[in-house]
Amino acid sequence: MSEKVEKYIACPKCSQQTLSEIVCSVNTENDTGVRDAVFDESIFRWKCKKCGFQTKMIHPLLYNDVKNKFMVYLIPRIDRKKIVDEELELEFSDLSYIKKRVVPDINSMKEKIVIFENNIDDMAVELTKSAVSEVVAKSTSRSVHSGYFMDMDTDKNTITFQYFVGGDHRSYIQTIRLEVYNRSMRIVKKYFSRENKKTGFLNINSSWAENALRKYKNSN
Ligand SMILES: [Zn+2]
Repeated sequence: MSEKVEKYIACPKCSQQTLSEIVCSVNTENDTGVRDAVFDESIFRWKCKKCGFQTKMIHPLLYNDVKNKFMVYLIPRIDRKKIVDEELELEFSDLSYIKKRVVPDINSMKEKIVIFENNIDDMAVELTKSAVSEVVAKSTSRSVHSGYFMDMDTDKNTITFQYFVGGDHRSYIQTIRLEVYNRSMRIVKKYFSRENKKTGFLNINSSWAENALRKYKNSN
């Protein structure tokens, strides 16, 4: 079941406050439509009851995929390193076999969902993404703003990322050989398997990868 809360929300257009229902938690097992609603972002659509103004409103959302054993918790503008909602953490603390992640925006939420649905390791993805972003920065002569996992093809032995580069955040697709990911996977297994088993909601992103690579290099 999807869980909802009622909140007074002030319309950005007419400024009037109305009581609105906000979806705060979804479970893909009971509602197969919620995955689509996240990917087309309709779950974040909000309409003013007074003037009819429509906008996208990013609010906290817990995405629970029981079948694939993961939870992704979207908390907008979350502090990078802070882990999170203590109440929620306690509530799900016995579920250590479930991957739990916290993300700050919709694109990161979609990325985690695709990664975990395909049974891919997100720590290894972040390490790989971080290494490849240096290559992308060099070959484009532009700074890399962000990057997302796109696809893993085990037949072709490739992994593909989409980066956003330069001041205008232009899209840049980079495909590399799967060996780079496999090497990252070995690093994760050797150095970060304990962290991977932590019970809380982890923030596994590019900052985590930078710190992890630093730790890895210092220990070698
Ligand atoms: Zn309005």
